[in-house]
Amino acid sequence: MARTVKCPSCGAELTVKDDNRDFMFCEFCGTKVRLDDYQETHRYVNEAEVQRVKAEKELELKRMEAYTKREEQAGKQFITLMSICLGVALFCVLISRFM
Ligand SMILES: [Zn+2]
Repeated sequence: MARTVKCPSCGAELTVKDDNRDFMFCEFCGTKVRLDDYQETHRYVNEAEVQRVKAEKELELKRMEAYTKREEQAGKQFITLMSICLGVALFCVLISRFM
């Protein structure tokens, strides 16, 4: 199957006649056009992988953040509960002293 490449210089659609060559010359402006788009494909795949890993890390970070927030909230609730208990206990002690 013949594939086409775009000339980076003049933008002409060039038909690749020999797929085994890694470059050809534009028949319109004579620019050397690289045909080994493997590198580009490879880079694209790597970028996708990087994006995936980044998204995963962000998700992990968000999960950890949510967890920390939950822990913080639980801690605050515990402190509030403890201070209420302490207040009630102190109140009871004071009441029993004056009775
Ligand atoms: Zn050209």
